[in-house]
Amino acid sequence: MTLDADITYLPGIGPQRAKLLGAELGIKTWHDLLYTFPYKHIDRSRLYKIRELTTDMPFVQVMGQFRSFEEAGEGRKHRLTGHFWDGEMFLDVTWFQGIRFIKQSVKVQKNYILFGRPSVYGGRLCVNHPDLDNPESTTLSKMSMQPYYSTTERMKKAGLTSRTIERFTSTLFSKLSWTIPETLPDYLIERLHLMPLDKALRAAHYPTTADELSAANMRLKFEELFFIQLVIMSYARKRQQERIGLRFAHIGNLFNTFYHHYLPFPLTEAQKRVIREMHADMKSGHQMNRLLQGDVGSGKTLVALMVMLIAIDNGCQTCIMAPTEILAEQHLQTFRDFLKDMPVRAELLTGNVKGKKRSDIEAGLMDGSINILIGTHAVIEDNVQFKNLGLVIIDEQHRFGVAQRAKLQKESPLPPHVLVMTATPIPRTLAMTVYGDLDVSVIDELPPGRKPVRTMHIYDNQPEKLRHGVIREIEAGHQVYFVFPLVKESEKLDLKNVQDEFIHLKETFPHYKIGMVHGKMKPAEKDAEMQKFITGETQILVATTVIEVGVNVPNASVMIIQNAERFGLAQLHQLRGRVGRGAEQSYCILVSNFQLSAETRKRLHIMTETNDGFEIAEADLKLRGPGDIKGTQQSGIAFNLKLANLGRDGQLVQLARDTASFVLDADPELKTKDNTLLRNHLQELRKEHKDWSQIS
Ligand code: ADP
Ligand code: MG
Repeated sequence: MTLDADITYLPGIGPQRAKLLGAELGIKTWHDLLYTFPYKHIDRSRLYKIRELTTDMPFVQVMGQFRSFEEAGEGRKHRLTGHFWDGEMFLDVTWFQGIRFIKQSVKVQKNYILFGRPSVYGGRLCVNHPDLDNPESTTLSKMSMQPYYSTTERMKKAGLTSRTIERFTSTLFSKLSWTIPETLPDYLIERLHLMPLDKALRAAHYPTTADELSAANMRLKFEELFFIQLVIMSYARKRQQERIGLRFAHIGNLFNTFYHHYLPFPLTEAQKRVIREMHADMKSGHQMNRLLQGDVGSGKTLVALMVMLIAIDNGCQTCIMAPTEILAEQHLQTFRDFLKDMPVRAELLTGNVKGKKRSDIEAGLMDGSINILIGTHAVIEDNVQFKNLGLVIIDEQHRFGVAQRAKLQKESPLPPHVLVMTATPIPRTLAMTVYGDLDVSVIDELPPGRKPVRTMHIYDNQPEKLRHGVIREIEAGHQVYFVFPLVKESEKLDLKNVQDEFIHLKETFPHYKIGMVHGKMKPAEKDAEMQKFITGETQILVATTVIEVGVNVPNASVMIIQNAERFGLAQLHQLRGRVGRGAEQSYCILVSNFQLSAETRKRLHIMTETNDGFEIAEADLKLRGPGDIKGTQQSGIAFNLKLANLGRDGQLVQLARDTASFVLDADPELKTKDNTLLRNHLQELRKEHKDWSQIS
């Protein structure tokens, strides 16, 4: 047997269960089961006495006997209470469901190990719906760290519980009499003091101590992150060596004319510096692959335009891609405003552009008469043909990861320079993975004269106050955003939703024109609504987070975020970045309900304390509990992180990156005997993940 063995070769798993495991958890082989890790362990290594129990304890176990049972209540109040005696004290144990079954199966005067969570009912300590084990059949190994596995509703219905999976994994380990083959070379295991794979896998399921569990997890997380870094860094290095780039040696007419005659305001020092950094790349004879980070409103668009002018001066075409059509249109408008009557032709190509207009644009791209093409990411996917594309700029995009950029690379014999622009906050660890192959420039300065947005947090019981504020701002000639978390009414969550609120706001503000945009609208409708707000035809825009990124309406001075407790810090910061773009004092009002968790309270507080994107990114990382950071899944590589979490495992990401770098320094092609394992395992991974093979 090998780890590739079908899961049905495991005793206890027949065709039916195999089907369920495959469909619900993707478990098809022994290997899959091995890599289905518990989401938590519970320490069953110790028995408690009833007198020790308090309500802030997690699950605990107590040994003793039931002395009597009593039933009370009717219907939904119907309950069964057992009086459990541990030799010193009584504990109330209560069931609200399955009472008949319990009465039949649970005996008095018999020893049980009771496992549950202490709580208080009617002033008395109790445990509801505990697990009951027979002490005789509970082996010592069971009395240690017990694994808990995720299951789905369908599995539970079919009786496939965490306990069942626990039985499967424990059977599997009893069958695995051989050592699970190592994937990391000895020299790395020694250097980093890692647990060997075989031991780590066993301990990740069945640790004997909490320390052993954390060492096992650390080894497995490291491995996940290390191979990602190895793949990204070997790609980046190879590209660096091979990359012959278009040489944009001179700064020409267009750039100089623009700089001296058309620039509407002086560049900030930071803008000047990053333009110099990019020009240095583009004249080096190597291909530029650069990430431009700059907080919302730091003026990345203008930088993009000026870098494009350098490319055009050197006889090349340029292309800028925005994540949404609204943004693409806005770029076109911005560029045309900036360029005025300069001899630069900029065109927009989106899915909406059809027929004659489209063929005109396609012809202009082929004959080189179009200098700047603005589009969405579809431009890349549609294989649009250029005469001589020299620079590609990707704006505000988490989803345009390593793999997508690699595609750009492969399709052109002399690849264009690449600039990716993103607003902080983007956690550093995410940058290292999604953008791990790029050089970085940072705009760390906002244009002068900006009044910092004033942020306030209020509860949702003050609609009048809010209404007056809105009226005051609109009467002063400004515009207002209202952002809501959902498009349509949801039964489950009591959240404000755009469509209902749109109607409601029309009643509240009968004298103003109100527009609405959300992600469920057709692009053309959305654009039309957006356009009305940009031109000032509507004074209030009701929206979902589709307006989160990039939209620039300097006249808008108020951003009202409803159900602010539902948004993450990065999102709140992005939304707030939509105001404060003009010279006027702007406001961001975070409206929440009263039931806030400590973490949410902290989040909203940070927003009112600082406008600094870097600070917010740091705070975000610290606060973020379980769950992945937005964007990791769409990063362009199917990371499939089972254990590691880019939010919490920042140091491990760094260690993985440093280690990959160390390995590749010594052996760039992984040719030596020491690195055979790495080479083979990478090949395996590339076979498994299509995206991985793209960047090789
Ligand atoms: P972002 O970096 O978020 O994409 P934008 O490029 O949209 O920011 O710029 C935000 C606003 O700041 C725009 O209205 C832009 O015209 C303006 N701006 C950009 N650079 C400067 C500057 N050096 N001085 C003053 N205003 C600037
Ligand atoms: Mg922008």
